Amino acid sequence: MGFSVYYAAVGTYDAALLDGALEKIITPLSAEYGGIAGKKVMIKPNLLEYRKENGPATVHPALLTALCRYLAKHNAAQISVIENPAVRTAEAIVESMGIMPELKKLDVNVKNCADYQKTAMPPECRYHQLEIASEYRKYDLVIDFAKAKTHAMMTLTCGVKNLFGLIRGSERLAWHLAVGRNFDDFADMLLDIYCLVKPQITLLDAIIGMEGNGPGSGDAVQLGFLCAADDALMLDESVAKYLGVTDMPVLKMAAKRGLTAGYQEFGEIPEVKHIRLPDVPSKRLEWGVYFPVKLRKLLRSMLLSRPVIDRNKCISCGLCAQKCPPQSLKMVNGKPVFDYPECIRCFCCQEFCPKGAITTAPSFWLKCLSNVEKLLRKTASLIRR
Ligand code: SF4
Ligand code: SF4
Repeated sequence: MGFSVYYAAVGTYDAALLDGALEKIITPLSAEYGGIAGKKVMIKPNLLEYRKENGPATVHPALLTALCRYLAKHNAAQISVIENPAVRTAEAIVESMGIMPELKKLDVNVKNCADYQKTAMPPECRYHQLEIASEYRKYDLVIDFAKAKTHAMMTLTCGVKNLFGLIRGSERLAWHLAVGRNFDDFADMLLDIYCLVKPQITLLDAIIGMEGNGPGSGDAVQLGFLCAADDALMLDESVAKYLGVTDMPVLKMAAKRGLTAGYQEFGEIPEVKHIRLPDVPSKRLEWGVYFPVKLRKLLRSMLLSRPVIDRNKCISCGLCAQKCPPQSLKMVNGKPVFDYPECIRCFCCQEFCPKGAITTAPSFWLKCLSNVEKLLRKTASLIRR
């Protein structure tokens, strides 16, 4: 049968238009889960960084408010907006959007991700050591609320990519460095997060999207629609088709891994012009910054926890080397030897070792970066208040 993708044509962020559109596209999806009434709902919006004058890097404040209004109207037991923005806190971004008073009236709780845990990944996952904000597990319904934007590495960011925000900020940089050389690896990691979290509803703000140098510094583009689905990946596949995006690593790798399940479309199917894609992305990080490959490798080695071998436990079976996706691990004289600059930190070797001979060595520099991140967030929030 597959999943459902609902569309609504909406030209502006007028409150009445948004209220009507959300009724049309969210209600049939929430009905699959027994409706909204009595449910604890978590919204994970894209709040990358709010810049009133510099284009649509985040979901639109009016739409975030309308979504909370919709949930309150349908008697949600609890509404929480939880995000982990690039620099400032979720609270600071919502404050700058000017919607905090209205959200408070609706009894909405806005907070930053805080409860990070190493998580046992589902068997279909490629990365085995992701540390993910675990707040989503405490809610009955998770709404993945994304913005339609171009993306220097992933071509287009919609539902699946929005879940990357559940990784701690300092580690997000480290993961970019780890897998950034190969966009298919990065897409695979996003798909692993999607497989783990599986938000029940994904909502896409594509009234005004971003084209060109996304996801932070592109140009606003009128797309004129909202879209919601019961599967983030199927929403991405459906929307990419209308925006003329044919080369999206997330969709390519999902097809390769057999994750695509088919979908049906309902509502007002958009007639939109094809979106202008980012420049050749080969040397950029997510934020559009150019980063030489050599520097990336150096930082990758410094920042990320690495696999290490206990030679006494190792029985030289070679399974770790066979399972290493980029083949950066080689057997030398019967023992595994890691090529750290090439290692993508998927920890498949650790997962498959029958003797527990491979463990993780934490990175001193990542701990430092994490503390710097905390300090930066605090300072940035204070400065812009
Ligand atoms: S050595 Fe290979 S399998 Fe192990 S973490 Fe690195 S890339 Fe993954
Ligand atoms: S899988 Fe474990 S026991 Fe086998 S070679 Fe690798 S480290 Fe040694």
